[in-house]
Amino acid sequence: MALAIAILLMIGLAIYAVMPLLAPEGAVGDALPIDVTPLVDLKRRRMVVYENLQDLEFEFKAGKVSKDDYESLRENHLAEAAQLMLASQEQEELTEHDLMIEKQVAARRAQKKAEHPEPYVCPKCDFENPLPVKFCGNCGAELPQHSRREKKKSAQ
Ligand SMILES: [Zn+2]
Repeated sequence: MALAIAILLMIGLAIYAVMPLLAPEGAVGDALPIDVTPLVDLKRRRMVVYENLQDLEFEFKAGKVSKDDYESLRENHLAEAAQLMLASQEQEELTEHDLMIEKQVAARRAQKKAEHPEPYVCPKCDFENPLPVKFCGNCGAELPQHSRREKKKSAQ
């Protein structure tokens, strides 16, 4: 019994020890989990760069890194941080831009619906003509009068 508990404990410890290795912090270029947006990923990478910078600073002060190495590495890190910062800004703008467009599209759609509550659906191609037209704006087929109901299969 005691042995079984000991073994379970060992397994638990082993899993605990391996866990951080399974999820490395600085993994770049790997497939991202679904809930990680590009923006979150960029921020995470920036944090890693800052951590590296701090490490570098620490190592330089401890005399482990030469001044030349320190300066060139520091420059690299800073350049990377700046690049990631820029990418995040672009991503943020892009997200805002997308949201704005989505809102506009939704508003336009709502407006269209209000103006034309019954779209003129083409029986041939299923295109929803936004205006009460005689011919389909997509395929040119003649629309039957009052085609707003169900799409019927044309007899032709
Ligand atoms: Zn059509």
